[in-house]
Amino acid sequence: MTRVCRLHAQNDLRIETEPFTGPGPGEVLVAVSAGGICGSDMHYLQDGGIGTIRVREPIILGHEAAGTVVAVGPDAGDLAPGDRVALNPSQPCGACRFCAEEQERHCLNMRFKGSAMRLPHEQGMFRDRLVIRAAQCIKVGAEVSLSAAACAEPLSVCLHALNRAEAVAGPLAGKRVLVTGAGPIGALCTALAARRGAAEIVVTDLQDRTLGIAREMGATRTVNVATNADDMACYEAEKGQIDVVFECSAAAPALRMALACLRPLGTLAQVGVAGEIPLPLNVLVGKEIHFVGCQRFDAEFPEAVALIASGTIPVERMVTGVYPVEQAAEAFAAAADRSRSVKVQLAFDGSEVSA
Ligand code: ZN
Repeated sequence: MTRVCRLHAQNDLRIETEPFTGPGPGEVLVAVSAGGICGSDMHYLQDGGIGTIRVREPIILGHEAAGTVVAVGPDAGDLAPGDRVALNPSQPCGACRFCAEEQERHCLNMRFKGSAMRLPHEQGMFRDRLVIRAAQCIKVGAEVSLSAAACAEPLSVCLHALNRAEAVAGPLAGKRVLVTGAGPIGALCTALAARRGAAEIVVTDLQDRTLGIAREMGATRTVNVATNADDMACYEAEKGQIDVVFECSAAAPALRMALACLRPLGTLAQVGVAGEIPLPLNVLVGKEIHFVGCQRFDAEFPEAVALIASGTIPVERMVTGVYPVEQAAEAFAAAADRSRSVKVQLAFDGSEVSA
């Protein structure tokens, strides 16, 4: 039997116990240790979906997790019981036109764990025991906590965003970067921009707590725009001083400010996601801004795991709370309270296995 954290409908999250079957060919059974709560999980719970994506049937949440292999099926590669693994939630079909072009994130038949995009929904990873394809398990050594390893998915998203931005703007080294929104994605974009040598990294948010963590992740300056919005005026001088923006808030005021601060021919990488949002097209056009959408990740996942395993990106600094799964309601409430939380995780019984 395994416990699962299942959303039945808006504001109806239940911890249930159910049987599970062992791993089949090419699969392994994982004792899940840690699972990070993402903004999408919170939107599913609080709003019943995100934009046009609606929760239409019960769904086990979670797409950021790590654990320990406890059993392997036939043909499961080099995985063995006891291996500690980060879990890649992405399963592209490998056969459609986008998979053929190595743009698997746009797969026409993508199965992404814990996503309500397709029907039937792809069930997620918030559970004590999970059967998953061996190919989606990336080994981590004993030196990294499974809580840190569970941050590989959001770090992959940010690696992809930086790669997208650099493809347009050139290397971030020596550039002046603005990160709007200091949640987990903003914190990780900050850490990666620092690693790639950005000369200045300005981070904005509405909360002092999240900005404090952004400084630990490498921000050279933080501005609380709820209380000190005037501090951003200097970046609007002479048509804008910022070379590259990572917009991680999906908030209209932040987007407007970011465009005001961007220099002509600057790059705005849109990482945060929302439904329809107002956009000052006159500024976008007048300054010839490169507006770059950033969707999930492909090959970045193993690189993210390596950056965490080597301690290069201090992901544990952004984990502000870990709750046992039976306290999922409290965990989701904490995650939604941005005045005290950046990344909140659930702990499953695999955390004992890995100890
Ligand atoms: Zn495909």
